Amino acid sequence: MRQIIPNVYTFDNLIMGRVYLIDDGGELSLIDTGLALAGDRILKQITDSGRQIAQVKHILITHAHLDHVGSLDKLKAATGAQVIASAEDAPIVEGKQDPPLPDRKTLPFPHNLIPVSAKAASKTPVDRIVADGDTLPGGLQVIATPGHSYGHVSYYHPALKLLFTGDVLFHMTGMGLPLRPATPDMEMNKRSIGKLCAFDIEIACFGHGQPILRGAGDQIRAFARKLGVA
Ligand SMILES: [Zn+2]
Repeated sequence: MRQIIPNVYTFDNLIMGRVYLIDDGGELSLIDTGLALAGDRILKQITDSGRQIAQVKHILITHAHLDHVGSLDKLKAATGAQVIASAEDAPIVEGKQDPPLPDRKTLPFPHNLIPVSAKAASKTPVDRIVADGDTLPGGLQVIATPGHSYGHVSYYHPALKLLFTGDVLFHMTGMGLPLRPATPDMEMNKRSIGKLCAFDIEIACFGHGQPILRGAGDQIRAFARKLGVA
């Protein structure tokens, strides 16, 4: 894993779906869990950093897609950490519902050809349900950013001006919208991007793509203006 800023890290070689680690005085929180193959890699990178698996106390889920909850079952079993998610995505995290997807017939070419799994990818009970405005241990604040999933949340650290976006925004070749065939309500997702303009953000950590370490809020506002939601 590599440091983004002091006490905030991201993991290497997870293929898809970025996972973050926050070290709050030795109490560790994970943001998302990556694909199923990521579990062993995450655990090894934590121990390789000189930390103990038992130090992981919280697993914060942005949304219940397979590249974000794919190794949740394994990481919950290994750590016993408290699992945190929104009420709307909790039944999907728990494997009781499959993730809602847009009607494939409504998608224009080539979006209609991109394969997206419509099956729940974890079955771990959620220990704590969070909603917009809630504050979590370590000072993270929940921002509801629905659209890519109906219960999608971002996590914001006001003191660090740091935002974990989840998939409300991608940062692959510049800033972009999430994958359309995996986003049941793109207009709602755009409004969620507009909502982020109100926050003082310097650093953005994305579910896909490289973090932005400086001036992230300005870039988000510029993108929101382009979308007409700023
Ligand atoms: Zn997603």
